[in-house]
Amino acid sequence: MTDILTLNAGSSSLKFGLFELDNPGAEPVAQILGEIDRIGNGPHMRARSAAGAVLSDARLSSEDAADHACALERVLELIARARPGAAIDAVGHRIVHGGPDHAVPVRLTPEVLDALARLEPLAPLHQPHNLAGVRAALAAFPQAVQVACFDTAFHRHHPWVNDTFGLPRAYYDKGVRRYGFHGLSYDYIAGRLTQIAPHLHAGRVIVAHLGNGASMCGMIGGRSIASSMGFSALDGLPMGTRCGQLDPGVVLYLMQHEGMGADEIADLLYRRSGLLGMSGLSHDMRELEAAGTDPANQAIGYFVFRIRRELGGLSAALGGLDALVFCGGIGENSVLIRQKVCEGMGWIGMELDELRNRRGETVISTDLSRVRVLVIPTDEEIVIARAARDMLGQIG
Ligand code: ADP
Repeated sequence: MTDILTLNAGSSSLKFGLFELDNPGAEPVAQILGEIDRIGNGPHMRARSAAGAVLSDARLSSEDAADHACALERVLELIARARPGAAIDAVGHRIVHGGPDHAVPVRLTPEVLDALARLEPLAPLHQPHNLAGVRAALAAFPQAVQVACFDTAFHRHHPWVNDTFGLPRAYYDKGVRRYGFHGLSYDYIAGRLTQIAPHLHAGRVIVAHLGNGASMCGMIGGRSIASSMGFSALDGLPMGTRCGQLDPGVVLYLMQHEGMGADEIADLLYRRSGLLGMSGLSHDMRELEAAGTDPANQAIGYFVFRIRRELGGLSAALGGLDALVFCGGIGENSVLIRQKVCEGMGWIGMELDELRNRRGETVISTDLSRVRVLVIPTDEEIVIARAARDMLGQIG
């Protein structure tokens, strides 16, 4: 029996999963899933067993989870308590940026870690925290196999036209490219489609990953052709607090006429924009749906409008459409957003079944709809656990 730990270190959070592996070829089975959020500032730890039992739902003192290394210690204490004797042979890490070269997961060595640290300028708000999680795990499990799973990897086979910007070539060569993100989620959905609808997997599919972070990906045969996200996790759809696609002239205006510096602009675009900025109320879709005020409805309206625009653009990039898949917290749960996205889409061959949508069934299009519409809960943790299992298998 082997245990695999998955870690997903955000700016102030650490999500974790403990998986059990019966034999080297088996599917890892989740035992514990949890998260510590607000690290360093009123941290809270939530964890549950695979059977749904609450293992932790408690505030921690700020000293107890002052940084990612401390937070990892709390996670290990919980695992020791909940599953005494757990032997962690592999740790899988979610890493936001793998740069131009990493199209598959990679074993973390000191050289790989150095190379990933050099990519920090490409994802300054995420990569340093991801790597802090890696360093904490390397110190805690020096003997374990550690694997990096990249959010960019799934998109590394984009055709050049979907990989570039209209800038002088030298910038492309320096790495200023359209990387695309949420790759672990898209990888999971592509895998699920092979199980539940292989004929759709083989076809032209758009996946809308709609959570606090939101993006869309067009795939053919389970491979990414184009993504709404580009160089950074700011592009494409508006998100909880991120602006989504923005005319670069706006950034010039903010610098030249509002006197804003890079840090201030980053704060505006990453933390104060999107649903929160437009509504002036909340980044949270549930709160906006409940509010019913004009600014909240306008924020929802813009979110939906950009999803529909992206749907049209990605369909053109794919040469047509066979299926649309919703996932992420909003995609999996919001009846309203799914209904608004699909409204009047008969021209593309899409017809929603209102009852199936309300019930949250897996297929929510009508039987006559040429384009199938599906809701598939995503699972990034199992993708990381499988990569760790595969790496264990490769090195024997
Ligand atoms: P993250 O990107 O942080 O993983 P999630 O995928 O958990 O985010 O998605 C969080 C979003 O999902 C929030 O905006 C939340 O309001 C929304 N959400 C969750 N449940 C519902 C629901 N029943 N109706 C509408 N929105 C929901």
